[in-house]
Amino acid sequence: MPAANDDLRALIRTIPDFPKPGVQFRDITTLLLDAQGFASAVDRLAPPVLRPDLIAGIDARGFVFAAALALHLGTGLLLIRKDGKLPGKTIAEDYALEYGSDRLAMHVDACTPDAKVLLVDDLIATGGTALAAVRLLKRAGAQVIGAAFVIDLPDLGGAERLRAEGVEVHTLLAFEGE
Ligand code: AMP
Repeated sequence: MPAANDDLRALIRTIPDFPKPGVQFRDITTLLLDAQGFASAVDRLAPPVLRPDLIAGIDARGFVFAAALALHLGTGLLLIRKDGKLPGKTIAEDYALEYGSDRLAMHVDACTPDAKVLLVDDLIATGGTALAAVRLLKRAGAQVIGAAFVIDLPDLGGAERLRAEGVEVHTLLAFEGE
């Protein structure tokens, strides 16, 4: 019997050694090119019981799925961007990369207190990016009711880290052995 979402897995291209040797880059641009695959991914990303007020997308590939999901569910869209890109007053959170660190930011007034927010990105690896986004949303007063990703790299532990922070995590497919 085919595993769940094998149709989507077949549309994701793996590019070895990008952006550096040893990384298996999971390329979702090939999924986006397929109208039915893209629509199915967005449809299945919506966790059935959660009723978010807002979808929060992470810069940049997360925006693609987050925007489509927001339209699909009839919610607004909150952009979590790399620092320095948003024009209004922002709050920011640093997160560690393998070498160095990076910073995510959101508009401080982007959500009303207690807004129920569903976080969306294309992929979760170590979870550093998503955890920084969760910290930002909580600082802004949001209630993070879940996080949804097309791809999980379970060996890097990010989904478990998010769950340990009390976030409900929903992923469509896993690539083991990363
Ligand atoms: P992390 O913070 O380690 O969970 O990394 C997640 C972010 O990095 C996501 O925004 C992904 O788009 C990107 N990313 C990390 N690893 C990969 C990979 N192997 N293939 C594609 N994107 C990746």
